[in-house]
Amino acid sequence: MKTTRIERRAQKLQLATGMAWTTALDQVRKLAPTAPLLPEANADLAPLESGILNHLAWPSISTRHPWGIRKVDPRPDSLVITFENEDINREVPGESMTRHLVRALPRFDTRTGEPTGIPGARFTIENGHVVIRQIDAAGSVTLAGFDVAEWFTALDLQTRDDESAGLTLSQHQSPRTLHSSEKLWWNTRDDESSWLASGLLRRAALLRTIGVPLSTTAWTNPAQGAGREWIVEYIHEPLVQFPLHHDGFATLLTDPECGLRIIETDWHCGCRMPREYGYGCHFYARSADGLPGELQVRFTRRLGNRLSRYKADSADYEARRKLYRRVPAQLLGGPSGAPSTA
Ligand SMILES: [Zn+2]
Repeated sequence: MKTTRIERRAQKLQLATGMAWTTALDQVRKLAPTAPLLPEANADLAPLESGILNHLAWPSISTRHPWGIRKVDPRPDSLVITFENEDINREVPGESMTRHLVRALPRFDTRTGEPTGIPGARFTIENGHVVIRQIDAAGSVTLAGFDVAEWFTALDLQTRDDESAGLTLSQHQSPRTLHSSEKLWWNTRDDESSWLASGLLRRAALLRTIGVPLSTTAWTNPAQGAGREWIVEYIHEPLVQFPLHHDGFATLLTDPECGLRIIETDWHCGCRMPREYGYGCHFYARSADGLPGELQVRFTRRLGNRLSRYKADSADYEARRKLYRRVPAQLLGGPSGAPSTA
């Protein structure tokens, strides 16, 4: 059992980011004893990260890790995201994680000017990795986990499809300035809640503590207050007794060292309902600092007959089971996260 303070902090960092144990331990040793484990993105970078989560939130491919994110390395002015690169489970030939990522780049319809993708985003190749930046913004997101050659293959395939659909990459038309199709969108960006999207992206691995990842999606609605409500649905098979499966996650998501600066506002816990019902317990939170944006996490469980279709491909199911991370008991001492028994 890991018991020193540094080791407990490294455990939190590892669970939240998915990084290797030695990396987490090394990073924690370099931090001041009370420094937050996961730095927030600066004001320039958070909108880019929000755009990336918006793009990944409803994947067009099957992913095993939440949104296909294997691990992250977060810094105030940069984020390295290492993606999974398993292609055995793709539903459509020619689809891949890189192809999915390529579609995040801004494109526009040459006939209507209608834009898609993250406005102002451009990519460069640096040190063997794809690096995304937004025009005139300080901060970068590095896409790792695949060879640059795969990126260019995916880019070629997508460009071919785009051309037949009348779409063109903004980067080709306007590499260093905003293309006209991006300008209107750029000025009306709804980024008030980008702190929340960025914070979720930086903690995607934490979802794996809830149970075996079967499907991770997210979307936004207008919040009751200002900004957007981010709704994350984690369809999973719980492997520990209810309600412990979501208590560890909620404890760490609100943890002062590794969590978001959020306050729990409500809990709907259906853990005591019949196991075949498949009810998803819901966790609700808002900013602790009065920032726009709200969060809802749905812990949608699958057991019994409702789980069987996820087990049909036994190799895929076993690979998913290996992604589950149990929260060690010594990290559950905090007061937060206790569900109601409603
Ligand atoms: Zn519950």
